Amino acid sequence: MSGANLGNGLVILDRDGVINRDSDAFVKNADEWQPLPGSIEAIAALTAAGFTLAVASNQSGIARGLFDQAALDTMHHKMLQLVDAAGGRINKIVICPHGPDDACDCRKPKPGLFEQLARYFETSLAGVPAIGDALRDLEAAAAAGASPILVRTGKGAETEMALPERFVNIPVYDDLAAAARALIEGAH
Ligand SMILES: [Mg+2]
Ligand SMILES: [Zn+2]
Repeated sequence: MSGANLGNGLVILDRDGVINRDSDAFVKNADEWQPLPGSIEAIAALTAAGFTLAVASNQSGIARGLFDQAALDTMHHKMLQLVDAAGGRINKIVICPHGPDDACDCRKPKPGLFEQLARYFETSLAGVPAIGDALRDLEAAAAAGASPILVRTGKGAETEMALPERFVNIPVYDDLAAAARALIEGAH
């Protein structure tokens, strides 16, 4: 899907710690990819409310040799199958496969993944909600002109405790389900 038909609008989600359980040892295969409670239903609810969903995710496990693109594809197949079974839709997934020393322009907190989505959907990201659990998600969203939202799942509770001054007024929700409810209510 491309062009201006964004319905109620685009919503950009981080993956690990927002949709699925994060792991300090990396999420390396489909078995380790386990949805957080209510996250799949939240995506379905956003879809039903007319939102267009995209995922923007750092996946440095590829650069670190912990898993390959094929394993990532099986994780995303599982995610999309679960979302589909719940009646939802994720329209686009963009990932950064690079490591911290690769000097790429897509690894969050850089805005490259968000800029890829802006080009794909042919839209400005001004006012586009971008939901993440880590400071780098908020920084990347802000750098791309989107509107960062923090959830307390994953690294989120820790992130909230040490939130830099410039982010103290952003919306914070317990999880993706709560953030989705707020976005849906706000869309009416
Ligand atoms: Mg995350
Ligand atoms: Zn990258």
